[in-house]
Amino acid sequence: MTGKETEYIRQSVESGKISGDGIFTKKSHEFFEQKYGFKKCLLTTSCTDALEMAALLIDLKPDDEVIMPSYTFVSTSNAFVLRGAKIIFADSEKETPNIDADKIEELITEKTKAIVVVHYAGMACDMDKIMAIAEKYNLFVIEDAAQAVDSFYNGKPLGSIGHLATFSFHETKNIISGEGGMLIINDDRFIKRAEIIREKGTNRSAFFRGEIDKYGWVDIGSSFLPSDIIAAFLFAQLENLDDIQKRRKYIWNKYYQGLKELDEKGFVKIPKTPNYATNNAHMFYLVCKNIEERSALISHLKENNINAVFHYLSLHKSPFYQDKHDGKELPNCDKYANCLVRLPFYYELTEEQIDKIIKIIIEFCTKK
Ligand SMILES: *Cc1c(COP(=O)(O)O)cnc(C)c1O
Repeated sequence: MTGKETEYIRQSVESGKISGDGIFTKKSHEFFEQKYGFKKCLLTTSCTDALEMAALLIDLKPDDEVIMPSYTFVSTSNAFVLRGAKIIFADSEKETPNIDADKIEELITEKTKAIVVVHYAGMACDMDKIMAIAEKYNLFVIEDAAQAVDSFYNGKPLGSIGHLATFSFHETKNIISGEGGMLIINDDRFIKRAEIIREKGTNRSAFFRGEIDKYGWVDIGSSFLPSDIIAAFLFAQLENLDDIQKRRKYIWNKYYQGLKELDEKGFVKIPKTPNYATNNAHMFYLVCKNIEERSALISHLKENNINAVFHYLSLHKSPFYQDKHDGKELPNCDKYANCLVRLPFYYELTEEQIDKIIKIIIEFCTKK
């Protein structure tokens, strides 16, 4: 909470219109379109929903293939599997958990329809390379920017580069509304249909703008728009975005300064920010040497009342997808699945808490 969340929720309730696309939804759309130059923004009830909208918009046919990293959240792939697509998993880079742009081209076939990139920890994938491949083979690029609010690739805001992009405002992200998300449409061809899909397959949005005199069922769709009460909470956060980001960057840099000598001495690795990327301080993670060391570190932190957690399991080895996967080994993805640990990271984290966490990690690493 940063200040006006409850005040804006009250205003929304008193406005008499608490369903979707009320005043705070419009304000949130304008905020993002102005601050980051996104062509068209549509709030959704989650990033998962925004991904499902993206999968509907690119008109996937069963057996179409979609290339994405295996080291990601299940929604990134589920959205496309729901449309009948086959997921082709690519490995992560050696130095970051992001998709390795150099391993994409070899996975492209006649059936490939799209590349989905995930800006892990809010740090950009190598978008120039990826967009060039997409252009060469006439593929769509969807940015899963769930973690990537207020982050940039060579000066361009993440979410503004692919044909479509999705954000999350889940309470674990930088900017939150409990549950919440957003679809970004950078390609004009999708704008009209996105509004229809989000409104249960009807042209109600055009009707509310007075462009048509009645609305009806014109396409497939679902109910993807959030209540304006959710948007009211979100807008209060957006007004404080710069302050939230400043605090988070402070925390991130404190971890970085405190733990970089462990990286230099080879005990653990800390995040690398590629030259083309900015760091939006979504997450601070360590990469241990192996799963045993990671488990020991997590237990040790737990004994000291510090809750550090690992992250994704490789989707290509998941119970649901392992027998549908093409069998390729994805060693970098497996390394992050086994060795990455996330440190506590939230706006209210105090100086003393961060100092204590750093001290305990250094003790753990250097004692052995
Ligand atoms: C959080 C997250 C999601 C899901 O977001 P929801 O808003 O909870 O649906 C999807 N992809 C990535 C990479 C995420 O980090």
